Amino acid sequence: MSRTTLPLTPRPAFAVRTHCPYCAFQCGVLMGEGDGQPDRVMGDPHFPVNNGQLCVKGWTSHTLLRHPRRLTTPLVRDNLNEPFRSASWDAALDLVADRVAAIRAEHSPEAIGVFGSGALTNEKTYLLGKFARVAVGTPHIDYNGRYCMSSAAAAQNRAFGLDRGLPFPLADIEHAEVVWLAGSNAADTLPPIMQWFDRQKANGGRLIVSDPRRTPTARAADLFLQLTPGSDLALANGLLAVAVEEGLIDGEYIAARTNGFDAVRRAVLQYHPARVERLTGIPESQLRTAARWLASAKSTMILSGRGAEQHSKGVDAVHAHINLLLALGKVGKSFSGYGCLTGQGNGQGGREHGQKADQLPGYRFIEVDAHREAVAEVWGVDPASLPRKGRSAFEMLDSIGPLSPSPLGGEGWGGGYETSISRVRHTASVKPTPHPNPPPQGGREPEANPPPLGGREPSSGIRALFVMGSNVAVASPDMGRVESRLRALDFLAVCDSFENETTALAHVILPVYQWAEEEGTTTNLEGRVIRRRITAKPPTGVRGDIDVLRELATRLGVGDKFEFYSPRDVFDELRRATAGAPADYSGITYERIDAEDGVFWPCPAEDHAGTPRLFAKRFHHPDGRARFFPVEHRPAGEEPDESYPIYFTTGRYKEHYNSGAQTRLVAKLNNARPNPMLQIHPRLARRHGIVSGNAVVLESRRGKAEFVAELTADVRPDTVFAPIHWGGKQAANLLTNPALDPVSRMPEFKLAAVRIAAVRRTP
Ligand code: SF4
Repeated sequence: MSRTTLPLTPRPAFAVRTHCPYCAFQCGVLMGEGDGQPDRVMGDPHFPVNNGQLCVKGWTSHTLLRHPRRLTTPLVRDNLNEPFRSASWDAALDLVADRVAAIRAEHSPEAIGVFGSGALTNEKTYLLGKFARVAVGTPHIDYNGRYCMSSAAAAQNRAFGLDRGLPFPLADIEHAEVVWLAGSNAADTLPPIMQWFDRQKANGGRLIVSDPRRTPTARAADLFLQLTPGSDLALANGLLAVAVEEGLIDGEYIAARTNGFDAVRRAVLQYHPARVERLTGIPESQLRTAARWLASAKSTMILSGRGAEQHSKGVDAVHAHINLLLALGKVGKSFSGYGCLTGQGNGQGGREHGQKADQLPGYRFIEVDAHREAVAEVWGVDPASLPRKGRSAFEMLDSIGPLSPSPLGGEGWGGGYETSISRVRHTASVKPTPHPNPPPQGGREPEANPPPLGGREPSSGIRALFVMGSNVAVASPDMGRVESRLRALDFLAVCDSFENETTALAHVILPVYQWAEEEGTTTNLEGRVIRRRITAKPPTGVRGDIDVLRELATRLGVGDKFEFYSPRDVFDELRRATAGAPADYSGITYERIDAEDGVFWPCPAEDHAGTPRLFAKRFHHPDGRARFFPVEHRPAGEEPDESYPIYFTTGRYKEHYNSGAQTRLVAKLNNARPNPMLQIHPRLARRHGIVSGNAVVLESRRGKAEFVAELTADVRPDTVFAPIHWGGKQAANLLTNPALDPVSRMPEFKLAAVRIAAVRRTP
């Protein structure tokens, strides 16, 4: 939709235009000023993504800016048995730098890990990646986006040669004849997006939703496919098999714009409807209806969410959906194509600018010599001095501790890691490496996230960890194990605004600005680079993450490489570092963002219009063609069996965000959703004598967690569901399986095998 068709309303004179801090929708908000602080938030009717709409998290986002539990002084302690004591900033920064330097000297730079966040601005993301490689010298930097969008990112890189969450603006949705939401409960996770589906349906379009639960999103669907957890890949392959059988594929498009279809066609012929029904639970009639709708529409989109992606075969599942769309000739055409509904606020920019273990700024790859040279020149360092790729998020946390012996009984942490995975894998046929569908030779680096260290032996386990803006203790799979690893650190420093489950295990907490207290850019789920503005005064005593990194780098002896005193300083260098890269920001300025309501990358020059739509003429592989990847259904890391007979899957509430570290502090949100509820089908509940309101203890091979039962026929009778927003005994991640996708290193958050260990009746 063009801006001129929007119902424009006058802007309140008091308001500053900025963006919500939470999810990747990055809704435009207007903030009103109260007594020196914003006292209200309203949706920005002029921002052409949310058009004035917000969800309840956005409406209440200002309340954390003056929260009584805000951290306003650095806190330090010598060991975890001591209480924290207040410290001056100089003392706290000296302590962090001294401990990092000492551990680096005694062990190696690889003994230091850096963990970032999809909540950081592009400027902070960029600077944190540079800090890890140049100031610390470690390869081990990764971020919580590894847990979120990495499977979709890897598949898009391999299939299209480029990963941008959506290759088209959200406004295209309303013109799509058919949209398939695969594993996304967008009505709860990105509520304002539903306006685009409402318009699409008002235009006569059809919406398909696939999910193990009948979610609020599924209720809006014209066709709901309530599939078995972990069967997304089989469903997409089955749909392509029907399309082939019924002659619905686009041979002309396949010949003109793609490579590799024959192998995919052969593979999917094994997915006849009866087999697909056994694997997915979707009857043939629904399968054929969906295939015909997707194929016959002039414009067709598939948008995937974490439900299809957060699996140990997440990359292959995304490939299966992309294969289908390529075979139907839909990618790169108007109002058509594949997109990933990115989750975290800056999940898109967070995966572009170098805080991922295998990446450098601009979506360059750290193992590609030309990419290393380009970035090293901007940073003023020898390319040879840059570390190679490091461990992915869970692997980094799992490697905490001395090299040998591993507490898991393996040969050092590397062997221990494999041991831990084999212990949690109940299906022996699923190996973490190698990838079962190796990509064709000769293209650009196709595996976005190959196994860490390129096959080299690790020189050290992680002994010190620097965390910026991520509650890793709750967000990680097999949480009990991760907590024990965090406790084993020699030193943990965390930058955050509030205490949380991760700061509880820290030696130093550095209190930093919140979103409204400093400016910076983020990149929303469309690839639109936007700007957050300063709308609130920070409390006395807190500092910005950029100041923290500059001061630490200075203490580590490389201050001349970190002379950044504002986000603009960093953005100027980011622009130079991304020039000529896949995610080229060199033509984007703060002034252009303001004037144009954001600029879509790639944007290689200040007189370039930006790129709202990708792939219309060519894909980003050297030959300009998209690549098919034949993929096969395989079991999850563990499947239900006699001992653990129930599928466990996880998700989100609209009132909370990720680990809940922020939203659990907002009274309105916490009152609306004070506890995680366990969705359980009445038939399954009856077998265990459970009624609504009972406390239910679930157990997996990794731990136990306790939830309050909510009986509902919205969930399959073989599946239970719980949200991820709580720590402690209510943490869903006590149960989840860290089986990793072999390419993306995505943990299997969406499928674990559990049993009901205890039921406490309500009196
Ligand atoms: Fe918009 Fe997401 Fe913020 Fe809700 S949480 S207001 S959908 S950006």
